[in-house]
Amino acid sequence: MRVEVVAVGTELLLGQIPDTNSQWIGEQLAANGVASHFHQHVGDNHERIVLAFRTALARSDAVIVCGGLGPTQDDITRAALAEVMNVPLERRDDIVEVIRAMFQSRGRSMPDNNLLQADVPRGATIIPQTRGTAPGLICPVGLKVVYAVPGVPYEMTDMFERAILPDLLARERAGGTTSVITSRVLRTWGASESALAEAVSERFDALEDGGRVTIAFLASGIEGIKVRITARGDDAEHASSLLAEEENKVRTLIDLKLGDIIFGVDDQSMEDVVANRLLGKNLTLSVAESLTGGLIASRLVSVAGASRWFRGGVVSYASDVKYDLLGVPEGPVVSAAAARAMAEGVRRVLGADVGLSVTGVAGPEEQDAQPAGTVFVGLAVGDEITDVALRLPGDRPRVRAYSAISALDALRRVLDRTT
Ligand code: ATP
Ligand code: MG
Repeated sequence: MRVEVVAVGTELLLGQIPDTNSQWIGEQLAANGVASHFHQHVGDNHERIVLAFRTALARSDAVIVCGGLGPTQDDITRAALAEVMNVPLERRDDIVEVIRAMFQSRGRSMPDNNLLQADVPRGATIIPQTRGTAPGLICPVGLKVVYAVPGVPYEMTDMFERAILPDLLARERAGGTTSVITSRVLRTWGASESALAEAVSERFDALEDGGRVTIAFLASGIEGIKVRITARGDDAEHASSLLAEEENKVRTLIDLKLGDIIFGVDDQSMEDVVANRLLGKNLTLSVAESLTGGLIASRLVSVAGASRWFRGGVVSYASDVKYDLLGVPEGPVVSAAAARAMAEGVRRVLGADVGLSVTGVAGPEEQDAQPAGTVFVGLAVGDEITDVALRLPGDRPRVRAYSAISALDALRRVLDRTT
């Protein structure tokens, strides 16, 4: 069964409000294994709403309409539904009474306009209103169905959960097509979207369009690129075994072609992953930051319970702080040697097991004849003192943000290598 969402409202087209309803409904449908291939936005115009409904009914089995059930002149969803169903609107006295009672309970009299909300296309059933004045509508159109609910999110979500989802699932069961959708996000850092797409292209080619498994990429700025794998199975067990099988294939291809770029899954951040590694190895961490000025420490302490493994950080911005406090040998401070010495120094000064450092040129000006974006990460883990040299793109804020996550990624990799 395919479900299409139609969000009605000129304000959506004008960008005055974001269409959070469709987003929320899409999420709920996916979580319940209901396929949704199209979403539409349409303004408050009778002909265009009718066209949107007909288009949706031509290619989908069920349509969820939100918005335009209010009492004002621009609320014309009911009339458009009646036209698509080819039936008249009928005023229902029982609904009038419910609305009148709602106004009375708030000590107000019902404006005549609200009578419109008691109009129901002949043959439709209503979803009783509990949070607003407009009831929802369930409108059969041949073997298909259109559900109409108010645009107000608080009213829409209630009616979706109470009436629409149960009805949809009952229809799916009757059609013998229930399924469960499950997904997994692989968090990657350090590869471009095109490199990732190329690495897994054979899986893309193998997966049929509209099939049970899909792969999608989602660029997430400085936090890397997410690879989302989604599987639709006959039941939860089937879906998770399809997902596990595909995840395995995708991971193998990425590892083979791009190396160890998958740092976590789902909602895990880079700092969450670093925290898990440190806890697992029972190690404490300290950081020495130059161009990031505390960004790394700030990311680290965003993890709950960071005091168990994070000792602290030194913002060693001035060269003489690097020399005097951290014991960096005098000389150029944007260098691999300085980064290594900073990592060793901060580990010693703060009494931690692991030292992580970053020094570089945030820009826009070059420094010590090194261009903006030149960054060195230093790592002191056990007897291993290493560095990673980077050339990062972008303006000053981006270079700093990239430096922070690059340093954390370098630490993750070293922690994985060393036992
Ligand atoms: P009401 O009975 O309250 O008039 P309605 O069915 O007529 O409801 P609309 O008039 O279309 O719904 O929208 C009412 C309000 O609900 C809008 O002003 C907006 O704040 C919110 N809303 C409408 N559509 C959406 C949407 N797709 N996503 C998020 N919010 C929405
Ligand atoms: Mg309205």
